[in-house]
Amino acid sequence: MINRPKVILRRAEKYDPFLISSIIEEGIQEIGVGPKIKGRITIKPNVVMAHYLVAPSAFTRVEFLEGLIEAIKRMAGPEAKIFIAEKCGTGLPTTRMFRRAGYHQLKKKPFLKLIAIEESKKKTVWLEKGQVHKKIKTAREIVERDCLIYAPKLKTNVLSQGLTASLKLNIGLLCDRERMWNHNYNLDEKIVDLLEVGYPDFIATDAIEIACGGNQLTQPGYHLGAIIMASNPLAHDVVCSHLFHLDPKQIGHLVAASRRGYGSLNLEEIELGGDITLEELQRKTCHLSTGFIRLEKAHPRIKVINGEPYCYGGCQGVFLDWLYMIKDRKPDLWGKMPDWTVVIGHYKGDIEADRLLLLGQCTKIEGKVRARVKRRIDGCPPTHKGLVLWLFLKTGIRNPLFRLDLIVDAYFFLFLSWIKRFVTGRI
Ligand code: SF4
Repeated sequence: MINRPKVILRRAEKYDPFLISSIIEEGIQEIGVGPKIKGRITIKPNVVMAHYLVAPSAFTRVEFLEGLIEAIKRMAGPEAKIFIAEKCGTGLPTTRMFRRAGYHQLKKKPFLKLIAIEESKKKTVWLEKGQVHKKIKTAREIVERDCLIYAPKLKTNVLSQGLTASLKLNIGLLCDRERMWNHNYNLDEKIVDLLEVGYPDFIATDAIEIACGGNQLTQPGYHLGAIIMASNPLAHDVVCSHLFHLDPKQIGHLVAASRRGYGSLNLEEIELGGDITLEELQRKTCHLSTGFIRLEKAHPRIKVINGEPYCYGGCQGVFLDWLYMIKDRKPDLWGKMPDWTVVIGHYKGDIEADRLLLLGQCTKIEGKVRARVKRRIDGCPPTHKGLVLWLFLKTGIRNPLFRLDLIVDAYFFLFLSWIKRFVTGRI
């Protein structure tokens, strides 16, 4: 009989590091990866962004990491060294997001080091099976490790057809320029390329509080009370997609991973274990939405005209994400949004609008254009940070992420990070 990959669903009602550590230790033993937990151990969490007011549920909680660290330190022994490595969202310095997520307190542990990937010593890895990337550059601690552990936060994400779990976590291996390169219609293959470097030995997912329904950074959290563990990332993500009532065969990066030999999309070919059933968890999530919709359906006063291509991982997805930031954190503004017509991609036809926004580098209109106000924002795709700034400057719409403390992070601290990288030669 063929061995089926195992995914363990465990009940964990609260962020208690002691409880989390014992659940994870049992999970490691049940999956049988105990012998791999040794030496130089790198943990990759999800800290795409953290902010107590506008992004309180976007990241792997520090209490979860404390429990995970406790478990693996007990199993790996005193000689083990643990690295927490991450590159947060584009245009933000990871050290600031570590601090906002409360990770700085982990630095007190003498065997542990926080690694902001963009400021670290890096290694270039040539990919044998890359379809988008022929090579990638990431932190030495990701490449030269004895054991790689992923600790995603279970969330929905409109850029990746509703789901972000362990495969999508790999985007955080890349620094900004490489990360945004081909973050468009090629996103699914790009994510799968990264599995060649970022294939975890063990995954422990923070699903005690999940986040869903809006923008991946700002969407609200909901209590689910679970920890999900596995050693096969595709099997793990297939189970997570069912948890959100999504069909894994409709999620591009899972389909691409399966096609490229990383495993099956069929739930029947995965062994489920643990003390809580998938059906019980699905009952808890049945009232939640992933927020993954066509962009033109997002807001009645934002008229979207899509040309070619439709990039849910690029312009359309990023703009939907920008709209959801407002819906999530500024509901008053959501109800009073000004009328705009937005064109994305190569469009053939005439356009008449009062206020017109052309979004994305490839956007062009083959036809007559009549508009009182016309604005353009480039990028393939534009970054979230760029959209927050340029849409404020060009349309006057103030996104909830346009705040003084985040502006200081995104410009002043980013500048300091650049100086540090320049001085240490770690560009
Ligand atoms: S610029 Fe064009 S190709 Fe690039 S992400 Fe936007 S719509 Fe897609």
